[in-house]
Amino acid sequence: MWGRLVDLIGQDCEFSVTGHLKLARNDADMAELVAHQQMVSSFGLSLKILDRSDLRRRYPYLGHYFAGGSLCAEDGQANPRLVAPAFARCAREKGAVIREQCSIKLAVADRNGFKLFAAGEDAPVHARRLINTAGAWGAGVAKWFGDIVREEVMAPNMCVTEPIAPLVGPNLGICGGGIYVRQATGHGSVIFGSGLGTADRDALRARPLADVTMEAASAAIKMVPALANVLLVRSWTGIEGRMPDGLPVVGASPSTPNLFHAFGFSGHGFQLGPAVGAVLAELSLEGGSPTSLDGLSMTRFGEPKSNSAAPVAAVPT
Ligand SMILES: Cc1cc2nc3c(=O)[nH]c(=O)nc-3n(C[C@H](O)[C@H](O)[C@H](O)COP(=O)(O)OP(=O)(O)OC[C@H]3O[C@@H](n4cnc5c(N)ncnc54)[C@H](O)[C@@H]3O)c2cc1C
Repeated sequence: MWGRLVDLIGQDCEFSVTGHLKLARNDADMAELVAHQQMVSSFGLSLKILDRSDLRRRYPYLGHYFAGGSLCAEDGQANPRLVAPAFARCAREKGAVIREQCSIKLAVADRNGFKLFAAGEDAPVHARRLINTAGAWGAGVAKWFGDIVREEVMAPNMCVTEPIAPLVGPNLGICGGGIYVRQATGHGSVIFGSGLGTADRDALRARPLADVTMEAASAAIKMVPALANVLLVRSWTGIEGRMPDGLPVVGASPSTPNLFHAFGFSGHGFQLGPAVGAVLAELSLEGGSPTSLDGLSMTRFGEPKSNSAAPVAAVPT
Protein backbone atom coordinates (compact mmCIF):
# COMPACT_ATOMS: atom_id res chain seq x y z
CA MET A 1 0.00 0.00 0.00
CA TRP A 2 2.86 2.42 0.74
CA GLY A 3 4.03 2.08 -2.85
CA ARG A 4 0.51 2.89 -4.08
CA LEU A 5 -0.06 6.02 -1.96
CA VAL A 6 -0.35 8.32 -4.97
CA ASP A 7 -3.17 6.20 -6.40
CA LEU A 8 -4.82 5.75 -3.02
CA ILE A 9 -4.66 9.25 -1.51
CA GLY A 10 -3.25 11.50 -4.21
CA GLN A 11 0.28 12.12 -2.88
CA ASP A 12 3.36 10.06 -2.01
CA CYS A 13 4.01 11.72 1.42
CA GLU A 14 7.76 11.46 0.71
CA PHE A 15 7.53 7.67 0.66
CA SER A 16 10.71 6.27 -0.80
CA VAL A 17 12.03 2.74 -1.06
CA THR A 18 15.32 2.99 0.82
CA GLY A 19 15.41 -0.62 2.03
CA HIS A 20 15.95 -1.69 5.63
CA LEU A 21 19.20 -3.23 6.81
CA LYS A 22 19.14 -5.18 10.07
CA LEU A 23 22.66 -5.59 11.40
CA ALA A 24 24.18 -8.52 13.27
CA ARG A 25 26.78 -7.93 16.01
CA ASN A 26 28.01 -11.52 16.16
CA ASP A 27 27.45 -15.08 14.92
CA ALA A 28 24.44 -15.62 17.18
CA ASP A 29 22.75 -12.56 15.63
CA MET A 30 23.60 -13.87 12.16
CA ALA A 31 21.95 -17.21 12.95
CA GLU A 32 18.87 -15.32 14.12
CA LEU A 33 18.73 -13.29 10.92
CA VAL A 34 19.04 -16.40 8.77
CA ALA A 35 16.24 -18.14 10.72
CA HIS A 36 14.10 -15.01 10.31
CA GLN A 37 14.81 -14.88 6.58
CA GLN A 38 13.58 -18.47 6.20
CA MET A 39 10.48 -17.86 8.31
CA VAL A 40 9.35 -14.71 6.47
CA SER A 41 10.04 -16.12 3.00
CA SER A 42 6.98 -18.36 3.44
CA PHE A 43 4.96 -15.11 3.71
CA GLY A 44 6.44 -13.75 0.47
CA LEU A 45 8.94 -11.37 2.08
CA SER A 46 12.34 -11.60 0.48
CA LEU A 47 15.39 -10.78 2.65
CA LYS A 48 18.98 -10.89 1.44
CA ILE A 49 21.64 -12.04 3.90
CA LEU A 50 24.89 -10.06 3.69
CA ASP A 51 28.19 -11.06 5.27
CA ARG A 52 30.89 -8.83 6.73
CA SER A 53 32.64 -8.21 3.41
CA ASP A 54 29.33 -7.47 1.65
CA LEU A 55 28.66 -4.80 4.27
CA ARG A 56 32.09 -3.21 3.86
CA ARG A 57 31.71 -3.10 0.10
CA ARG A 58 28.13 -1.87 -0.06
CA TYR A 59 27.95 0.37 3.02
CA PRO A 60 31.47 1.68 3.78
CA TYR A 61 30.03 4.30 6.16
CA LEU A 62 29.04 1.60 8.70
CA GLY A 63 31.13 0.88 11.81
CA HIS A 64 33.37 -2.09 11.10
CA TYR A 65 32.30 -4.29 13.97
CA PHE A 66 29.19 -5.81 12.34
CA ALA A 67 29.26 -9.50 11.43
CA GLY A 68 26.70 -9.06 8.65
CA GLY A 69 23.07 -8.18 8.17
CA SER A 70 19.80 -8.85 6.39
CA LEU A 71 18.49 -6.44 3.79
CA CYS A 72 14.80 -5.97 3.05
CA ALA A 73 15.14 -4.08 -0.21
CA GLU A 74 11.43 -3.23 -0.56
CA ASP A 75 11.20 -1.47 2.81
CA GLY A 76 11.19 2.30 2.98
CA GLN A 77 10.27 5.46 4.79
CA ALA A 78 7.67 8.22 4.61
CA ASN A 79 7.08 11.53 6.37
CA PRO A 80 4.55 11.02 9.20
CA ARG A 81 3.75 14.73 9.32
CA LEU A 82 2.41 14.42 5.78
CA VAL A 83 0.84 10.97 5.96
CA ALA A 84 -1.88 11.40 8.61
CA PRO A 85 -3.19 14.75 7.24
CA ALA A 86 -3.16 13.34 3.69
CA PHE A 87 -5.29 10.35 4.73
CA ALA A 88 -7.60 12.70 6.65
CA ARG A 89 -8.05 15.07 3.70
CA CYS A 90 -8.84 12.12 1.47
CA ALA A 91 -11.38 10.75 3.96
CA ARG A 92 -13.07 14.18 4.13
CA GLU A 93 -13.33 14.28 0.35
CA LYS A 94 -15.08 10.91 0.53
CA GLY A 95 -17.61 12.30 3.03
CA ALA A 96 -16.05 11.53 6.43
CA VAL A 97 -16.70 14.07 9.18
CA ILE A 98 -13.58 14.56 11.31
CA ARG A 99 -13.99 16.30 14.64
CA GLU A 100 -10.67 17.36 16.15
CA GLN A 101 -10.09 18.22 19.83
CA CYS A 102 -13.20 16.24 20.67
CA SER A 103 -12.79 13.97 23.68
CA ILE A 104 -15.19 11.05 24.00
CA LYS A 105 -15.80 10.49 27.71
CA LEU A 106 -17.93 7.38 27.36
CA ALA A 107 -19.47 5.20 24.70
CA VAL A 108 -22.24 2.67 25.31
CA ALA A 109 -23.88 0.04 23.14
CA ASP A 110 -27.65 0.23 22.65
CA ARG A 111 -30.04 -1.65 20.38
CA ASN A 112 -29.41 0.76 17.49
CA GLY A 113 -25.64 0.60 17.75
CA PHE A 114 -23.66 3.00 19.92
CA LYS A 115 -24.00 6.32 21.72
CA LEU A 116 -20.85 8.39 22.20
CA PHE A 117 -20.71 11.16 24.77
CA ALA A 118 -18.26 13.97 23.98
CA ALA A 119 -16.85 16.31 26.63
CA GLY A 120 -18.94 19.47 26.96
CA GLU A 121 -21.80 18.20 24.77
CA ASP A 122 -25.19 17.06 26.03
CA ALA A 123 -26.45 15.24 22.93
CA PRO A 124 -24.66 11.97 22.16
CA VAL A 125 -23.30 11.05 18.76
CA HIS A 126 -24.99 7.93 17.34
CA ALA A 127 -23.16 5.27 15.38
CA ARG A 128 -24.10 1.90 13.92
CA ARG A 129 -20.53 0.64 14.17
CA LEU A 130 -17.67 1.72 16.37
CA ILE A 131 -13.96 1.33 15.71
CA ASN A 132 -11.77 1.87 18.76
CA THR A 133 -8.48 3.33 17.51
CA ALA A 134 -7.68 5.21 20.72
CA GLY A 135 -3.97 4.34 20.74
CA ALA A 136 -2.51 4.22 24.25
CA TRP A 137 -6.04 4.83 25.57
CA GLY A 138 -7.49 1.92 23.56
CA ALA A 139 -7.70 -0.51 26.48
CA GLY A 140 -9.54 2.17 28.48
CA VAL A 141 -12.13 2.50 25.71
CA ALA A 142 -12.39 -1.30 25.36
CA LYS A 143 -13.09 -1.50 29.08
CA TRP A 144 -16.27 0.56 28.64
CA PHE A 145 -17.65 -2.54 26.90
CA GLY A 146 -16.22 -5.09 29.29
CA ASP A 147 -13.32 -6.02 26.97
CA ILE A 148 -10.45 -6.21 29.40
CA VAL A 149 -6.82 -6.22 28.33
CA ARG A 150 -3.62 -4.86 29.86
CA GLU A 151 -2.01 -2.08 27.80
CA GLU A 152 1.05 -0.21 28.98
CA VAL A 153 2.58 2.98 27.64
CA MET A 154 5.95 3.54 26.04
CA ALA A 155 7.74 6.65 24.82
CA PRO A 156 10.34 5.94 22.10
CA ASN A 157 13.20 8.41 22.61
CA MET A 158 13.84 9.95 19.17
CA CYS A 159 16.47 12.41 17.91
CA VAL A 160 17.01 14.37 14.71
CA THR A 161 20.18 15.98 13.36
CA GLU A 162 20.83 18.94 11.12
CA PRO A 163 20.42 18.15 7.38
CA ILE A 164 23.53 16.61 5.85
CA ALA A 165 24.55 15.41 2.39
CA PRO A 166 23.28 11.91 1.49
CA LEU A 167 25.13 9.41 3.71
CA VAL A 168 22.94 6.63 5.07
CA GLY A 169 21.33 4.44 2.39
CA PRO A 170 18.90 1.92 3.85
CA ASN A 171 17.17 2.46 7.19
CA LEU A 172 19.36 0.78 9.81
CA GLY A 173 18.34 -1.44 12.68
CA ILE A 174 20.15 -3.91 14.85
CA CYS A 175 19.29 -7.52 15.56
CA GLY A 176 17.20 -7.66 18.72
CA GLY A 177 16.31 -3.95 18.49
CA GLY A 178 18.17 -1.30 20.43
CA ILE A 179 18.80 1.41 17.85
CA TYR A 180 17.26 2.62 14.65
CA VAL A 181 18.88 5.12 12.23
CA ARG A 182 17.60 6.54 8.96
CA GLN A 183 18.31 9.55 6.81
CA ALA A 184 15.23 11.42 5.62
CA THR A 185 15.33 11.34 1.85
CA GLY A 186 13.45 14.65 1.64
CA HIS A 187 15.56 17.04 3.74
CA GLY A 188 18.68 15.06 4.67
CA SER A 189 18.33 15.06 8.46
CA VAL A 190 19.33 11.85 10.20
CA ILE A 191 16.67 10.46 12.53
CA PHE A 192 17.61 7.95 15.18
CA GLY A 193 15.96 6.40 18.18
CA SER A 194 17.09 4.23 21.03
CA GLY A 195 15.72 3.70 24.52
CA LEU A 196 12.67 5.21 26.12
CA GLY A 197 11.65 8.57 27.50
CA THR A 198 8.79 8.99 29.95
CA ALA A 199 5.06 8.99 29.24
CA ASP A 200 2.13 9.77 31.50
CA ARG A 201 -1.10 8.62 29.84
CA ASP A 202 -3.38 10.40 32.32
CA ALA A 203 -1.52 13.73 32.28
CA LEU A 204 -1.11 13.56 28.47
CA ARG A 205 2.57 14.28 28.80
CA ALA A 206 5.65 12.62 27.30
CA ARG A 207 9.28 13.68 27.53
CA PRO A 208 12.55 12.43 26.02
CA LEU A 209 15.33 12.00 28.60
CA ALA A 210 18.72 13.71 28.24
CA ASP A 211 20.80 10.72 29.36
CA VAL A 212 18.88 8.36 27.04
CA THR A 213 19.44 10.84 24.20
CA MET A 214 23.20 10.91 24.93
CA GLU A 215 23.37 7.10 24.94
CA ALA A 216 21.36 6.97 21.69
CA ALA A 217 23.78 9.46 20.09
CA SER A 218 26.75 7.29 21.14
CA ALA A 219 25.09 4.19 19.71
CA ALA A 220 24.26 6.00 16.45
CA ILE A 221 27.89 7.18 16.11
CA LYS A 222 29.12 3.64 16.75
CA MET A 223 26.86 2.44 13.96
CA VAL A 224 27.72 5.29 11.54
CA PRO A 225 30.99 6.91 12.70
CA ALA A 226 30.65 9.93 10.35
CA LEU A 227 27.75 11.13 12.51
CA ALA A 228 30.28 12.16 15.18
CA ASN A 229 30.52 15.68 13.79
CA VAL A 230 26.86 16.19 12.97
CA LEU A 231 24.74 18.49 15.13
CA LEU A 232 21.82 17.07 17.04
CA VAL A 233 19.02 19.63 16.76
CA ARG A 234 16.10 18.11 18.63
CA SER A 235 14.83 15.14 20.57
CA TRP A 236 11.20 14.15 21.04
CA THR A 237 8.86 11.39 22.04
CA GLY A 238 5.13 10.62 22.29
CA ILE A 239 2.63 8.43 24.11
CA GLU A 240 2.37 5.00 22.52
CA GLY A 241 0.37 1.96 23.68
CA ARG A 242 2.33 -1.23 24.29
CA MET A 243 0.91 -4.72 24.58
CA PRO A 244 2.66 -7.39 26.66
CA ASP A 245 3.82 -9.29 23.52
CA GLY A 246 4.65 -6.21 21.43
CA LEU A 247 1.84 -6.91 18.92
CA PRO A 248 -1.29 -4.79 18.50
CA VAL A 249 -4.87 -5.78 19.24
CA VAL A 250 -6.76 -5.81 15.92
CA GLY A 251 -10.17 -7.35 15.35
CA ALA A 252 -13.78 -7.64 16.42
CA SER A 253 -14.69 -7.14 20.06
CA PRO A 254 -15.12 -10.48 21.84
CA SER A 255 -18.18 -9.10 23.63
CA THR A 256 -20.00 -6.48 21.55
CA PRO A 257 -21.33 -6.82 17.99
CA ASN A 258 -20.24 -4.09 15.56
CA LEU A 259 -17.41 -2.95 17.86
CA PHE A 260 -13.87 -3.31 16.49
CA HIS A 261 -10.56 -2.66 18.19
CA ALA A 262 -7.18 -1.59 16.75
CA PHE A 263 -4.77 -0.27 19.37
CA GLY A 264 -1.57 -1.02 21.27
CA PHE A 265 0.73 -0.86 18.23
CA SER A 266 3.82 -1.10 20.43
CA GLY A 267 5.99 1.16 18.26
CA HIS A 268 4.99 -0.21 14.84
CA GLY A 269 1.68 1.51 14.08
CA PHE A 270 2.91 4.02 11.52
CA GLN A 271 4.16 1.32 9.20
CA LEU A 272 1.12 -0.91 9.79
CA GLY A 273 -1.52 1.86 9.78
CA PRO A 274 -2.68 1.80 6.13
CA ALA A 275 -3.01 -2.00 6.03
CA VAL A 276 -4.78 -2.12 9.40
CA GLY A 277 -7.17 0.60 8.20
CA ALA A 278 -8.00 -1.42 5.09
CA VAL A 279 -8.64 -4.55 7.17
CA LEU A 280 -10.86 -2.60 9.60
CA ALA A 281 -12.90 -1.31 6.66
CA GLU A 282 -13.41 -4.90 5.48
CA LEU A 283 -14.31 -6.12 8.97
CA SER A 284 -16.78 -3.36 9.73
CA LEU A 285 -18.40 -2.98 6.30
CA GLU A 286 -18.19 -6.48 4.86
CA GLY A 287 -18.31 -8.52 8.07
CA GLY A 288 -14.94 -10.20 7.54
CA SER A 289 -11.50 -9.92 6.00
CA PRO A 290 -9.41 -12.33 3.93
CA THR A 291 -6.50 -11.30 6.18
CA SER A 292 -6.22 -13.65 9.12
CA LEU A 293 -6.29 -11.75 12.41
CA ASP A 294 -6.29 -14.75 14.75
CA GLY A 295 -2.96 -13.87 16.33
CA LEU A 296 -4.05 -10.30 17.07
CA SER A 297 -7.29 -10.89 18.96
CA MET A 298 -7.39 -9.50 22.49
CA THR A 299 -8.47 -12.93 23.68
CA ARG A 300 -4.90 -14.17 23.13
CA PHE A 301 -3.99 -12.83 26.55
CA GLY A 302 -6.69 -14.86 28.25
CA GLU A 303 -7.64 -11.89 30.41
CA PRO A 304 -10.92 -12.12 32.32
CA LYS A 305 -13.93 -10.75 30.45
CA SER A 306 -16.17 -8.61 32.61
CA ASN A 307 -19.92 -8.70 32.00
CA SER A 308 -20.66 -5.11 32.77
CA ALA A 309 -19.18 -1.86 31.56
CA ALA A 310 -16.40 -0.81 33.90
CA PRO A 311 -15.89 2.72 35.24
CA VAL A 312 -14.69 5.29 32.75
CA ALA A 313 -10.91 5.22 32.28
CA ALA A 314 -8.84 8.38 31.96
CA VAL A 315 -9.04 9.64 28.37
CA PRO A 316 -7.60 12.68 26.61
CA THR A 317 -9.39 15.97 27.25
C1 LIG B 1 8.32 8.88 19.15
C2 LIG B 1 7.65 7.80 18.38
C3 LIG B 1 8.28 7.21 17.27
C4 LIG B 1 7.65 6.21 16.54
N1 LIG B 1 8.26 5.69 15.43
C5 LIG B 1 7.62 4.76 14.69
C6 LIG B 1 8.21 4.20 13.51
O1 LIG B 1 9.34 4.54 13.15
N2 LIG B 1 7.52 3.28 12.80
C7 LIG B 1 6.28 2.87 13.18
O2 LIG B 1 5.69 2.05 12.50
N3 LIG B 1 5.68 3.38 14.29
C8 LIG B 1 6.33 4.29 15.05
N4 LIG B 1 5.75 4.78 16.18
C9 LIG B 1 4.47 4.23 16.60
C10 LIG B 1 3.31 4.88 15.88
O3 LIG B 1 3.42 6.29 15.90
C11 LIG B 1 2.02 4.43 16.58
O4 LIG B 1 2.01 3.02 16.66
C12 LIG B 1 0.79 4.91 15.86
O5 LIG B 1 0.74 6.31 15.79
C13 LIG B 1 -0.44 4.38 16.59
O6 LIG B 1 -1.55 4.84 15.89
P1 LIG B 1 -2.96 4.83 16.58
O7 LIG B 1 -3.89 5.47 15.61
O8 LIG B 1 -3.25 3.45 17.09
O9 LIG B 1 -2.79 5.70 17.90
P2 LIG B 1 -2.47 7.25 18.03
O10 LIG B 1 -1.67 7.73 16.87
O11 LIG B 1 -1.95 7.45 19.41
O12 LIG B 1 -3.91 7.90 17.88
C14 LIG B 1 -4.89 7.66 18.85
C15 LIG B 1 -5.69 8.94 18.95
O13 LIG B 1 -6.87 8.70 19.68
C16 LIG B 1 -7.10 9.82 20.50
N5 LIG B 1 -7.99 9.40 21.60
C17 LIG B 1 -7.73 8.48 22.54
N6 LIG B 1 -8.80 8.36 23.37
C18 LIG B 1 -9.75 9.22 22.91
C19 LIG B 1 -11.05 9.58 23.33
N7 LIG B 1 -11.62 9.00 24.40
N8 LIG B 1 -11.73 10.52 22.65
C20 LIG B 1 -11.18 11.11 21.55
N9 LIG B 1 -9.94 10.82 21.10
C21 LIG B 1 -9.23 9.89 21.78
C22 LIG B 1 -5.72 10.23 20.97
O14 LIG B 1 -5.74 11.56 21.43
C23 LIG B 1 -4.93 10.05 19.68
O15 LIG B 1 -4.97 11.22 18.89
C24 LIG B 1 6.37 5.78 16.93
C25 LIG B 1 5.73 6.34 18.05
C26 LIG B 1 6.37 7.35 18.76
C27 LIG B 1 5.66 7.94 19.96
